[in-house]
Amino acid sequence: MARTMITGGKAVLPTGAQQVDILIENEKIAGIGQASSLAQTDNWIDAKGQIVLPGLIDMHVHFLDRFMGTISLHDFFTGTRAAACGGVTTIIDFANQKKGGSLADAIEHKRSEADGHVVIDYGLHAEITDPTPAVMKEVRSIIKAGVPSFKVYTIYEGMMVDDGALLALFEQTSRGGGLVIVHAENNFIADRLRREYLREGKTGAMYHALSKPNIVEAEAIGRIAYLAGHLKAPFYIVHMSTREGRQIMQHCRHKGQAAFAETCTHYLCLTDSVYRRRDGINYIISPPLRKQEDIEALWEGLHEGTISVVSTDDASFSVESKRMGKDSFDKVPNGMAGVELRLPVMFSEGVLKRGLSLERMVELTSTNPARLFGLFPQKGVIQVGSDADLVILDPQKKVKLGMKTTHMVTDFCSLEGLRVTGYPVMTLSRGKVIVENGKFVGRQGEGRFLHRKIDFNAIRNVR
Ligand code: MN
Ligand code: MN
Repeated sequence: MARTMITGGKAVLPTGAQQVDILIENEKIAGIGQASSLAQTDNWIDAKGQIVLPGLIDMHVHFLDRFMGTISLHDFFTGTRAAACGGVTTIIDFANQKKGGSLADAIEHKRSEADGHVVIDYGLHAEITDPTPAVMKEVRSIIKAGVPSFKVYTIYEGMMVDDGALLALFEQTSRGGGLVIVHAENNFIADRLRREYLREGKTGAMYHALSKPNIVEAEAIGRIAYLAGHLKAPFYIVHMSTREGRQIMQHCRHKGQAAFAETCTHYLCLTDSVYRRRDGINYIISPPLRKQEDIEALWEGLHEGTISVVSTDDASFSVESKRMGKDSFDKVPNGMAGVELRLPVMFSEGVLKRGLSLERMVELTSTNPARLFGLFPQKGVIQVGSDADLVILDPQKKVKLGMKTTHMVTDFCSLEGLRVTGYPVMTLSRGKVIVENGKFVGRQGEGRFLHRKIDFNAIRNVR
């Protein structure tokens, strides 16, 4: 096996950013220090003037996702290829339980769609939509099989689980080493508002946002925090979008609860004003985009450690499928592509504009998802023995984000025209260069399924 040496870059290590050389051998990081003292090799990657990061982890993507009668544009090849071009070396997708079906079947089905197609390593969350007694019994064996995270919805008829099932699930996971991750919105408030607006003929994209005001998210987060707290079960809120959500998370942390939240790239840079645009329906996602005050609160939460992860919730529905709802916002498939956009946004908007440290950016996009979802220290860190999943970022490179620069197969880019400074230029997956100068040079099917195991003691320290 050839050795590779990355030289001259500023690497973000657990101890902080530092000018070091990195030796790669047999898919792993084999040495960190000065090249001359590490090993002999002919294979050099010059990273002078560049920043070397642990490959990003996106624990929230939906590839080949079926929703509202349509299917996402990204499949496991095109989705992971775009991810790799954005500096991502691991994704975690969702295995959706069918009504009456088992979790094991759902995982097997999703693996059959992903294996042989992914270009980077991947894991799966088990998504529970029908919490039968048999499924509750299955939870512990699924955890042991390497899928220790369970996604539930508190909204959407046919998918949501009720509070009784939630409590029963927390009971299973808290004893077995599992983490419940929740799409938190109050179904009944949103449903009532939606029906009222539609009855009044208020069908435009803005009414999607108005039918899901902040309290829809905040109430659901508060309820989940209470239920989980009752059983001392850890929980994780996906795509948190509101300032109220941050306050609840602050409160949970203050009480010492193992409470975690992520937000997504788009909630950090877009407001609900986009729903007034002519193409407003393309931005219909749930929860909806919010106000500038919410954006500021989310950045504060990232700084202070009440929000621990930034993901993308990539759900790449085509403009054509979005147009199913051109006359009524409730007919629009919810979701936007974004898997490639996170690193440039976090570096440019976070590190350069808002004073987020490089180290904190790495925690939010790589180390924390690795810790919380049972991939650490194989992933999420530059240290000897870890997988050589690395991304090299050119901190000077200026890019105007949009359809011209993206590798996503979408026909609409939510951040079209956003100018960023700093862009990933090279990605290595287990030591192999798969993106070079922004061009994908990897191979379909090279990614592997990851068996994960969550360490309950370690996640308590995640901020
Ligand atoms: Mn969701
Ligand atoms: Mn999602």
